[in-house]
Amino acid sequence: MDRKRAEFLSRAGKAFDRMFGADGQNSLVTFAQREDRACEVTDELARWLMGEHIALDPSGPSSVEAACPICGGPMRYESAAQAESEVREFQTRRGKIEYRRAAARCPRCRKIFFPA
Ligand SMILES: [Zn+2]
Repeated sequence: MDRKRAEFLSRAGKAFDRMFGADGQNSLVTFAQREDRACEVTDELARWLMGEHIALDPSGPSSVEAACPICGGPMRYESAAQAESEVREFQTRRGKIEYRRAAARCPRCRKIFFPA
């Protein structure tokens, strides 16, 4: 978590620099330019936060229990480290993020699935 915090603070520092630059204005003159830049840099931070937060949860953005498509029984998510995973895209209000989604395993059928 300390490493994650340090990375966030580093990204936040770069966002600050992209807003203010060395001269405190960074060639942003109109309100629209200021708004565009502020939204751009904070949207990036928001996407990073969401992606990192999802990465800590092996089931991805949906924590809904998935049912096995074969037997209908409950499936289990394996730990992010041992599970097979695939990259998914997710559209957020702040733009598209990518995250790794772990497979779920049905303990009865012994098959793995990537729930929708
Ligand atoms: Zn099953």
